[in-house]
Amino acid sequence: MSSIELTDRQKQIISIVRERQPIASTEIAGVLGLSRAALRADLSVLCLSGNLIAKPKVGYCINGTPPQEAFERQVREMLVGDVKSMPVVVDEKDSVYDALVALFLDDASTVFVLSEGYLAGLASRKDFLKAAIGGRDLQKIPVGVIMTRMPNIVVAFPQESILEAAKRIVMHQIDSLPVVETHENKGRPAYRVVGTLSKTNLARLFVELGK
Ligand code: ADP
Repeated sequence: MSSIELTDRQKQIISIVRERQPIASTEIAGVLGLSRAALRADLSVLCLSGNLIAKPKVGYCINGTPPQEAFERQVREMLVGDVKSMPVVVDEKDSVYDALVALFLDDASTVFVLSEGYLAGLASRKDFLKAAIGGRDLQKIPVGVIMTRMPNIVVAFPQESILEAAKRIVMHQIDSLPVVETHENKGRPAYRVVGTLSKTNLARLFVELGK
């Protein structure tokens, strides 16, 4: 590879390509807030110097990165916060019936249960089924009674790697993790729920990366 001195903008282009390869020039231009024409000279320099390669109809890639390695790096570097989706949350005093309705309406597999706004537990489809089979009046029992509760909840944090969180889903054989931020409540650490990471999120990501 050539040892020519690169400008700051060219270095920036390389890091954008490294992160998102293969990437079209229009997309690089979009990230930098420039026109495609304004980028043309930089892209030529980067290709001629051997830093980038332009694959017709595919986009720009870092020269010498095998596709497998690019894929692995993308997975390793992706954060839970990039992939999480909206959580379904209810209060521990809400009835099992109301929590079940929330689960249905939002097409989720798990509801996260809060106490004073902080994570107290969660209830999955199986937990609801167990409660229903028990023959109790679901309108009368609070969801807090049937949930799996803290501190036995496996969580994920927005800034951690998606790979580590996915391993936890596999290891614990569960459908989803609440994505949480740590706060303090009455002098003790407590979790605020800011999202969910589910098997569906991971399947969607897999399809995206496979493209
Ligand atoms: P399903 O009910 O569809 O089988 P899961 O496999 O996710 O869904 O849940 C199985 C059991 O594990 C349930 O009792 C549920 O409360 C519990 N569970 C689910 N997610 C978690 C989690 N993140 N942390 C701790 N326990 C969980």
